[in-house]
Amino acid sequence: MSNINERIDAGYYTNNDTYPTNPKKVCQHCNVHVGIVPPKFCPECGKPFIDEYNARKEVYKNEMSKHRRQDSALVNLFKTDLIEEYGHDRDNEKAKLLVEKCWSERHSNGYREVVAMFEDFEEIL
Ligand SMILES: [Zn+2]
Repeated sequence: MSNINERIDAGYYTNNDTYPTNPKKVCQHCNVHVGIVPPKFCPECGKPFIDEYNARKEVYKNEMSKHRRQDSALVNLFKTDLIEEYGHDRDNEKAKLLVEKCWSERHSNGYREVVAMFEDFEEIL
């Protein structure tokens, strides 16, 4: 079985789903930008706007929350794998605390940095 750094490099903890796009206030029928406040009807072609826009917004919100759930599941998987990689029980409270501290300090620099910091401190567990 590969080690955690190899799994990081292989994208094992990366959310590969397309990042959802916030719908623009553009008419689906004629491509006109309808302005800041979404109108009931498109000022250009007169077709209904607000209902379609709200439906697209709803789809976006659902996709976004699905995306965030996937992100969070992958992060939790990474944290558990990291704890177990160093031979600790996944429910070890001190290991969980250490991984949270390493995560908050280093995750903006990438998963490998979290692993490096965890490795520096895990012997105190
Ligand atoms: Zn239009």
